[in-house]
Amino acid sequence: MSKIAMKTPLVEMDGDEMTRIVWKQIKDIVILPFVDLKTEYFDLGLPNRDATNDQVTIDSANRTKELGVAVKCATITPNAQRMDEYKLHQMWKSPNGTIRAMLDGTVFRSPILVKGINPFVTCWKKPITIARHAYGDVYRNSEIRVDGPATAELVVTYPDGRVDKKTIFDFKDAGIIQGMHNTDKSIEAFARSCFMYALDVKQSLWFATKDTISKTYDHRFKDIFNDVFEAEFKSKFEEAGIEYFYTLIDDAVARIMRSEGGIVWACKNYDGDVMSDMLASACGSLAMMTSVLVSPDGVYEYEAAHGTVTRHYYKYLKGEATSTNPMATLFAWTGALRKRAELDGLADLADFADRLEKASLDTIESGTITGDLKNLIDIPEKNVVNTEDFLKAIASRLA
Ligand code: NAP
Ligand code: MG
Repeated sequence: MSKIAMKTPLVEMDGDEMTRIVWKQIKDIVILPFVDLKTEYFDLGLPNRDATNDQVTIDSANRTKELGVAVKCATITPNAQRMDEYKLHQMWKSPNGTIRAMLDGTVFRSPILVKGINPFVTCWKKPITIARHAYGDVYRNSEIRVDGPATAELVVTYPDGRVDKKTIFDFKDAGIIQGMHNTDKSIEAFARSCFMYALDVKQSLWFATKDTISKTYDHRFKDIFNDVFEAEFKSKFEEAGIEYFYTLIDDAVARIMRSEGGIVWACKNYDGDVMSDMLASACGSLAMMTSVLVSPDGVYEYEAAHGTVTRHYYKYLKGEATSTNPMATLFAWTGALRKRAELDGLADLADFADRLEKASLDTIESGTITGDLKNLIDIPEKNVVNTEDFLKAIASRLA
């Protein structure tokens, strides 16, 4: 059988622990037998990040900017315990954070829907994608505990000495205060990524803030989205038959609960944090959730939404076969291959990505599943298998 050809390589970012094992299994069992795979390999596993002073993460992000499409395995974000475990030189920053900052991107997450795993919200028939703004607001705030009567003020000092000042509150007694910010540049990049992604998947884009209450801060988000839409995307949306819809955040939540899905929902940083966990649990499991980072100039990095599944890895190290769900990582590969195919005009590669996804969904729907889905899926016959056998079942459907 001749293999499907590629033109431009994918940037391949390998990772840690159980997902690193699953990464190799996916390549060996369901990709390499069918595709003449071209990648530029970067080892983002923690030992190599430590050995290269994290330069490998920066190199991989720079190469992604040049080639346009990357696929990333889950990686450990070190904490004190990992410092010990891996004898690290430094508590390296989260690779996802580094890559996101370098690509200035927005993360889009959506559930992988299969028959038998029914969202708790019964009217959701199509996936809802959440786009979370990844910069600023309460995540970059300054807070002060006020310990007695005091006047709290908001002060902005410009380089020319000009000062803008407002009273926040005259405290008669103890209390709390918080200051936060965002930048026009970051909000614009967020808006552009969202409009591009919506066009890409041909789904309408919703955006919501609380601009009736926050007449300057949230209103700025609303205005920037509107300006970017009018200037760059309005006619493209019309051509694609999709719409941009702005509403208040509480109205958006109510409407989402009554919708049938098939929407990209842009959320401010905090709203996205809360709503993506709501969406993931309403749809079942993090192992059935895709995630892609899209930069405003159209660079894509595909990954799984879950972590390195440490608990399973420790079992694996003891020689036990684990039933780790490879779906999210598999969909990171199919997403990246499909995007590469689209950019390089390779119809058979795009078709392979579609068929691989379909074969994996069919495998689950026919009852061959990993352990995490056992209590989640409602089908008559369940055959719980380990990761390798699950992937082999997909491969035999594909073949
Ligand atoms: P996790 O790796 O997502 O795993 C948490 C639990 O969720 C697992 O123990 C497992 O439950 C279940 N789970 C997650 N993915 C699964 C899958 N594919 N198949 C089956 N079950 C799955 O989160 P964590 O344990 O909090 O974090 C572990 C490491 O991952 C940390 O070092 C963290 O820094 C890193 N992390 C990386 C990323 C990323 O690179 N994108 C994201 C988050 C966390 P059971 O044990 O009950 O089976
Ligand atoms: Mg959260």
